[in-house]
Amino acid sequence: MIYDTTNIFAKILRGEIPCATVYEDEWALAFNDIAPAAPVHVLVIPKGPYVSLDDFTLNGSNNEIAGFYRAVGKVARELGLAATGYRTLSNTGLHGGQEVPHFHVHLFGGRPLGPMPVR
Ligand code: 5GP
Repeated sequence: MIYDTTNIFAKILRGEIPCATVYEDEWALAFNDIAPAAPVHVLVIPKGPYVSLDDFTLNGSNNEIAGFYRAVGKVARELGLAATGYRTLSNTGLHGGQEVPHFHVHLFGGRPLGPMPVR
């Protein structure tokens, strides 16, 4: 898996493109999706150059993986979503419909989300 350093999330990580940051730590950056599909729609991305969930879980260190997923949970709690519940989603590769080739977790919440969509 070759990481494309010109992808939009790489540019956001480098500060070349602005984003609405909701959380940042050593392992992760979380920001609002530009086209929200729910009242809360946040993207959580690792700081490292990983193409997809497949790449991240194959090549990420245990510290990166633990730090990243702890950050996902922390963002959800800080946004007040843990009590009511929320949905996470990672599109992976061609069949997954992944558009941006930097691993990301979508975090949706703020209303009942209905059954899991698989379109
Ligand atoms: P994917 O289809 O790769 O899982 O999701 C990519 C997501 O990135 C989409 O929900 C899309 O709206 C979002 N997105 C694409 N470009 C930008 C951008 O420049 N800024 C932000 N904040 N979100 C973006």
